[in-house]
Amino acid sequence: MTSYRAPLKDIEFLMRDVFDAEKLFASMPDTEEVTEDLILAILEEAGKISERLLGPINQSGDEQGCQFNDGVVTTPAGFKEAYKAYSEGGWSSLTGDTDFGGQGMPKMLSSMFEEMAFAANSSFALYTILNTGATLTLSQHGSEELKQTYLPKMYEGRWTGTMCLTESHAGTDLGMIKSRAVPGEDGSYTITGTKIFITAGEHDLSENIIHLVLAKLPDAPAGPRGISLFLVPKLAVGNDGELNGELNNVSCGSIEHKMGIRASATCVMNFDQSRGFLVGELNKGLSHMFTMMNYERLSMGLQGNGLAESSYQVAAAYAKDRVQGRAPSGALKPEANADPILVHPDVRRMLLTMRANILGGRALSLYVASQLDQSRFHPDEQKRKKAADLVALLIPVQKAYCSDRGFDSCVLGQQVLGGHGYVAEWGLEQNVRDARIAQIYEGTNGVQALDLMGRKTVRCNGELLAVLVSEIEDFQQSQKSVDAMQSYLQILEQTKVHLVETTEKIIASSESNPDEVGAASYAYMELMGLSLFCFMWVRMIAAALNTREESSSDKDYLDSLIKTGDFFFARLLPKGHALAAEISAGSGTLMAMTAEQF
Ligand SMILES: Cc1cc2nc3c(=O)[nH]c(=O)nc-3n(C[C@H](O)[C@H](O)[C@H](O)COP(=O)(O)OP(=O)(O)OC[C@H]3O[C@@H](n4cnc5c(N)ncnc54)[C@H](O)[C@@H]3O)c2cc1C
Repeated sequence: MTSYRAPLKDIEFLMRDVFDAEKLFASMPDTEEVTEDLILAILEEAGKISERLLGPINQSGDEQGCQFNDGVVTTPAGFKEAYKAYSEGGWSSLTGDTDFGGQGMPKMLSSMFEEMAFAANSSFALYTILNTGATLTLSQHGSEELKQTYLPKMYEGRWTGTMCLTESHAGTDLGMIKSRAVPGEDGSYTITGTKIFITAGEHDLSENIIHLVLAKLPDAPAGPRGISLFLVPKLAVGNDGELNGELNNVSCGSIEHKMGIRASATCVMNFDQSRGFLVGELNKGLSHMFTMMNYERLSMGLQGNGLAESSYQVAAAYAKDRVQGRAPSGALKPEANADPILVHPDVRRMLLTMRANILGGRALSLYVASQLDQSRFHPDEQKRKKAADLVALLIPVQKAYCSDRGFDSCVLGQQVLGGHGYVAEWGLEQNVRDARIAQIYEGTNGVQALDLMGRKTVRCNGELLAVLVSEIEDFQQSQKSVDAMQSYLQILEQTKVHLVETTEKIIASSESNPDEVGAASYAYMELMGLSLFCFMWVRMIAAALNTREESSSDKDYLDSLIKTGDFFFARLLPKGHALAAEISAGSGTLMAMTAEQF
């Protein structure tokens, strides 16, 4: 069986040749010390952790799952030791605020580590990314006192964080939550309620668990405008910032038995008059939580991409080794009984679809991460605003499109192995099961598509799309004198025009029919994802052509990138026409049936 290998060559190519990360970091005072050497050294180390620490306990973790016994959750064998090594290696603080013990590294860097960690062991990765998201929310919205007390220990990994939003009757529609927060005389709050599906809500990896909980004050406005955010520790913390030996009435009622990510504890959490502390402003909880959700959503796209990469590695190696049938153009190995299945065009279709989508998804994720970095670190306010606009537009697409394509790739990988992909031994059925959740949590992909189409496109009259279009045009301008790029630039131009025209049509049709937005949203998200992959692929080809000219050492690798890009343009991008036709079909056929007819 093929063990996961960190795709460092691809990542290096994207970081250095496509996005010139070192130059970007040098332009922002807070990241100017992040040189190419440092980036590569950290990524190499992150690759080793993924391959050697997380990968080996992936399959056993899935087989054993988490155990629940009277409120206590035990993670599978090896998780505690791996988590200890992970925290002692300083990985929990990678992107953290430097004033509180974090390392202040950019998201571009940590996003690639996340992809590798998800690929090697998605369940393990979840414990860590929830903590990173919680620290980020706290560092942006928490009081100085909360930050002083909690951040250093969370960065050390001694305490871990969660995100407690969902209740049994309130998932997508968080405005309906029932958890209550009653103000106390000392400035703290008493939190009561039950949350479900809480990832890492209870486990045995850390000394304490810090829950970020959405709840409402008794007199809060109805709906989402009445939601506030509270920090609720599992174990009480004394004035000295250490555990004072008291419990805080936080308990785990049960854990879920589920399709995948079985070593990640998904918990019912009960808060029974627990002591909590307000994070940020009253009734602004949902918008504060979006800080965390933007980061977590990027992670869900990376989960899909990482698992797709892991499946691709197994499938590509298998296709070179497994012999069945003969090449249509004549036997490749006449001396053997049959040829490797890689000779078959249909097997190549599956592998190239995987590779084209994995590279497109990785490039898109890095592009979004670079915008997150600029929106956080750039000294120029206008650049920060432009980057924040791009983040707002792109996050729902990256989350939904990369997790969808990631899942598809995991299924394709399984298919390449035939019956051997269906049995547990090769790990590909686990990847399919583990990838499935990324399409559901952090807001289902249907809801991401609605966010893109409604809030981020129709309601702002395409203003955010105009920012993306200006980015595409800047790139086109930079390449216009490169002869070898002309045909690619033409493809990009057609794709851009097609996307803009389709967007204008939906904005116009939504004025007369409120169902049009919801009817068009999923196909629109897919069209946007495909168009963004096209933008990323043209950028990758430009970088590959340029680098191939400058150095001959990686010629074969760069050549393979160009061929994969050509496959994407010829065989995947044309699906955009079908999506545009689906969008133009409008809401009529969707809304025609009565409820009884379903
Ligand atoms: C393994 C796992 C881990 C999770 N981890 C966490 C966690 O750590 N913290 C946390 O708070 N939650 C967590 N969740 C919850 C998760 O985020 C929700 O399940 C998800 O957001 C969907 O909510 P729901 O399940 O209530 O579905 P619903 O909201 O009931 O949606 C059901 C269906 O209706 C669609 N739908 C709903 N509203 C609309 C609308 N307005 N327009 C169009 N379609 C709509 C949805 O797309 C979906 O297809 C986790 C869930 C799972 C399974």
